Amino acid sequence: RTLHVGLTGGIGAGKSTVAARLAALGALVLDADLAARAVVEPGTEGLAAVAEAFGPEVLGPDGALDRAALAELVFGDERRRGELNAIIHPRVRTWMAERTAAAPEGSVVVQDIPLLVESGLKPLFDVVVVVDARDETRIDRLVRLRGMSREQAEARIAAQAPRERRNAAADHLLANDGTESELVEAVDALWRELTELHHRS
Ligand code: ATP
Repeated sequence: RTLHVGLTGGIGAGKSTVAARLAALGALVLDADLAARAVVEPGTEGLAAVAEAFGPEVLGPDGALDRAALAELVFGDERRRGELNAIIHPRVRTWMAERTAAAPEGSVVVQDIPLLVESGLKPLFDVVVVVDARDETRIDRLVRLRGMSREQAEARIAAQAPRERRNAAADHLLANDGTESELVEAVDALWRELTELHHRS
């Protein structure tokens, strides 16, 4: 049996930090952003589908996806963005499902999905973990550590579901307004709880 854990959080809340700690503790962590790149790597059927739908101008001279060209085509165009998502999302789900199915007996599989709540994926998981921090904390991190302007950081936050909506989906909420080592301690406590739950069930 596998324990299926969904991990999400707003941009800059600390989701990647939590994912890395869970992996170090022994979880199999599957990253949806990584999957979304893998399914359109050169030679994949996913890339062929994107080129078929958007034309050869989204391919670079080396045959790899030209992300900037593709972004240009879907920017501000809901219909085309929907078309792209309809190609990418099912393939990401398959990529995740295949790796989940291949996990050793008794694994804790964590799917790291930025838009888990927005995409209505909560029902797929035994446990949903949300990493949360105040908007002001997140803006500060994105500006200091990611080189964004304050306006960019605010715009990225505004493009996601508000904290309250994401937090409402949480079975476990990890508040990350303190230090990084406090966060790591909270993840360790969560891991003990998850593994206990898993062994009892
Ligand atoms: P994204 O959605 O952009 O991937 P994220 O939620 O995965 O963001 P992280 O990459 O984990 O966020 O954290 C954002 C930045 O803030 C990183 O540089 C990380 O090292 C730093 N950080 C995370 N938690 C803390 C903390 N408690 N105190 C200080 N810095 C932190």
